[in-house]
Amino acid sequence: MGGDIFPMMNGKTLQDIPFIFIGVDIGENIGAMGDGVLRYGDAVYLGTAKTNRAVPSMWRIGDDIAQRPTNAADYFETEGEQARKRFWHEFGHHVQQQYGVTNAAEYVSPVLEKKPLATLGNIKMKELAPSDYACINVREWFAENFSLYAMGRKDLLSKEFLNMMEGILK
Ligand SMILES: [Zn+2]
Repeated sequence: MGGDIFPMMNGKTLQDIPFIFIGVDIGENIGAMGDGVLRYGDAVYLGTAKTNRAVPSMWRIGDDIAQRPTNAADYFETEGEQARKRFWHEFGHHVQQQYGVTNAAEYVSPVLEKKPLATLGNIKMKELAPSDYACINVREWFAENFSLYAMGRKDLLSKEFLNMMEGILK
């Protein structure tokens, strides 16, 4: 497996990684991850991070952008699924920050923060974003896409992102 982004997986799939919590962000972010440290907001523990939607979004890439969900959590119905999505979003930041990084210069400018922008450009990235949150910047774009990939929802992703993931995982 090129890049060794999941050396702990030992042939398992992304879905097999144990559900872990490390640290709490009191009153701050719903989740955060940087430099290998994952934190979940207290809202996730308290159950107040759930989206307000009555039913999961049925939006797909190519549909009217004005109807696109705010957050990829909107594709999931239960609090548990949404919490799992949020975990994978944060883990996606870890991948995006660390994949292919072997020295200080690459750490400052990681390959996965440059590649989507260089390959697709800002406008195309926004067209291919599964949520409005994914349009904030290339880091959130990768993390939102990655979260849906890890949740097994390839039906919500662009072929461009799926190609990118295939390149990472092979
Ligand atoms: Zn994020």
